[in-house]
Amino acid sequence: MIVLLSEGECTARDLSQMLSIREKEVYAHLSHIACSVSSQKQRLLILPSTCLSCGYVFETRKRFAKPGRCPLCKNERISEPRYRVV
Ligand SMILES: [Zn+2]
Repeated sequence: MIVLLSEGECTARDLSQMLSIREKEVYAHLSHIACSVSSQKQRLLILPSTCLSCGYVFETRKRFAKPGRCPLCKNERISEPRYRVV
């Protein structure tokens, strides 16, 4: 998974499809990757989710999973966060 993430940005859905694992397992792997790449002077970047309705950016969010709904407009159309190893 680290190889995929260092080649380009991926969403949890992309990763689950490419690796044939469930999204829930992807999140577990991501938190492990965040630890293991930091020892190799790399970083797991999280490109935050945004609200597709009003453009709100979920920057302060620390969890990997996609947020349920927008705190501003209550819309549930939220883009998936993307991940990348740099
Ligand atoms: Zn919104």
